[in-house]
Parts: sequence; C-alpha cells; structure tokens
Amino acid sequence: MQDLMKGKRGLIMGVANDHSIAWGIAKALQAQGAELAFTYQGEALGKRVKPLAQSLGADTVLSCDVEDLASVDSAFAALKAKWGGLDFLVHAIAFSDKNELKGRYADTTRENFSRTMLISCFSFTEIAKRAAELMPETGGSMITLTFGGSVRVMPNYNVMGVAKAALEASVRYLAADFGPRKIRINSISAGPVRTLAGSGIGDARAMFAFQQKHSPLGRGVTLEELGGSALYLLSDLSGGVTGEIHYVDSGYNVISMPRPEELKG
Ligand code: NAD
Repeated sequence: MQDLMKGKRGLIMGVANDHSIAWGIAKALQAQGAELAFTYQGEALGKRVKPLAQSLGADTVLSCDVEDLASVDSAFAALKAKWGGLDFLVHAIAFSDKNELKGRYADTTRENFSRTMLISCFSFTEIAKRAAELMPETGGSMITLTFGGSVRVMPNYNVMGVAKAALEASVRYLAADFGPRKIRINSISAGPVRTLAGSGIGDARAMFAFQQKHSPLGRGVTLEELGGSALYLLSDLSGGVTGEIHYVDSGYNVISMPRPEELKG
C-alpha cells in the first residue's frame, strides 16, 4: 500500500536523536506521504532534531518543553499560524529522575512523583486538547507511547510504571472525550528499545535481554516495526479503533512464565 498518509499533516513530539521511537514513527509516516512538523526540548536537542527533520522535508521545527505551559502554547500557536490545521499527533515524551528509576518504588519522592506524572502523563492530556482544537471536522488521530511496566511490576521502572498506568487511563478518557469529534486516541505499548530514555532505567540491559529472550518471538522490536504500527493507528486503516493500548513487544505481555528449559539456559 502506498500514500496512506498523503494529504495529512502531523506533529511529532519526542525526537531526541535517530534512535528515538518518535524518529522511527516519523520515517514510516513520511514514507507514506505525510507532511510532518517536529518539536524538540531545548536547544541542545534542537541541534540534533533540526537536521533530522530537514532530511524528511520538514521545515516546521518548534521548541517545546512540556513542563512549561507557555512553551506548549507558543508551539501550538506557531503551528496554527503555519498550517492552520492538524490531522495527527505523536506524543513520545517521558521523564523521571534516573536516581529513582532504580531501587524501590516505595522510596519515590513527592517532588519526582509530581514531575514524572506531569511530563510523562499529564502532558499528553494538555497536548491532546490543543491538538484537537486544530483538527478538522472530519476528525483526526493521536497516539502516545507506553510500556508494560504499567500493568505488571518491572524492576526499577518504579514511578514511571505508575505514570504509564495513568497515561493509559488518560488514553481511554480522552478517547471518550474526543470520540464525538471523530478524533481517535490510542497508545502503543512498546517492547524495550535502546534509546536515551530507555538507558536511564536501572539495569536496562538485563531487562531488555530478559524480555527479548522470553518473548514468543524471542527478539526485540525494531523502530521500523513501531513505525508500522503507528502508521496503522494514525491512518484511516484503523478507523474503528480508539482508546486502545496496542502492544508491539514481540508478544512478551502474554507470557506468564518462561518455559522451564528457558530458565535453565
Ligand atoms: P528518547 O529519549 O529518544 O525520547 C524521549 C523524549 O522525551 C525525548 O525527545 C525528550 O526530549 C522528551 N522529553 C522529556 N522531557 C521532556 C519535556 N519536559 N518536554 C518535552 N519533551 C521532553 O526515548 P524513547 O525511548 O524514544 O521514548 C519515547 C517514548 O517511548 C517515551 O514515552 C517512553 O517512555 C516510551 N517507551 C520507550 C520504551 C523503550 O524501551 N525505549 C519502551 C516503551 C515505551
């Protein structure tokens, strides 16, 4: 199939570099004809994101730090001035103090709990509201990124697991809020990928290796595979789908216990 996204314009939030999940998604969308705009967090990352955006023909690259509401509003005002409308949105943003992505969840501080929830969960609600205002009467589609540590305990994932659980609940509530506007809201629950954010989790390598080894497919997932699933959720192919948590994790989430022979190896 070709040109699934032709004539559609979308905002990609969360590219840090060419290992970012948002970058894999951006490439898949652009390859199917989408016109893209990007945001970046801070000038240091902007230096990396601008050339990447240009390589996909995107000339709208906006600064946006979701901790600062004025920065969110100014990015959306700039997008409105430039495009006047928006068809889809990718939210691939998360942050927590890496000192609390190890050890016990019980030791999470009040300050980091609030900050993690604001950046990794509530930012999607604030952004979805602004993006919806730009979407046409014919509707639109938005996705965010989550992880299976939301529903089952993953060592060291801690407060981020709690934030992802709240993010997944937000997806369902936002799907109900915006359904009457024909705007669909879904999320991809990705298997572990080696990214900047992923490397902040304690013992990340061991967790990645365990999940890959014990998933039905016996391997990790690629940025191309995540891009393909995002393309499905953001295109008309998934027209009847909203409020979903779509797992792209080599099937790891369905496993209760590895086969005994795997445990011996
Ligand atoms: P990444 O480091 O490439 O991307 C994280 C992005 O979040 C960065 O672009 C960063 O600038 C942005 N960000 C953080 N704080 C921000 C703020 N205050 N304002 C604006 N942007 C901010 O890592 P990634 O793994 O591609 O992460 C993207 C999403 O995928 C995250 O939500 C992450 O939790 C999720 N995810 C990652 C994995 C994995 O294994 N890497 C698995 C499942 C889900």
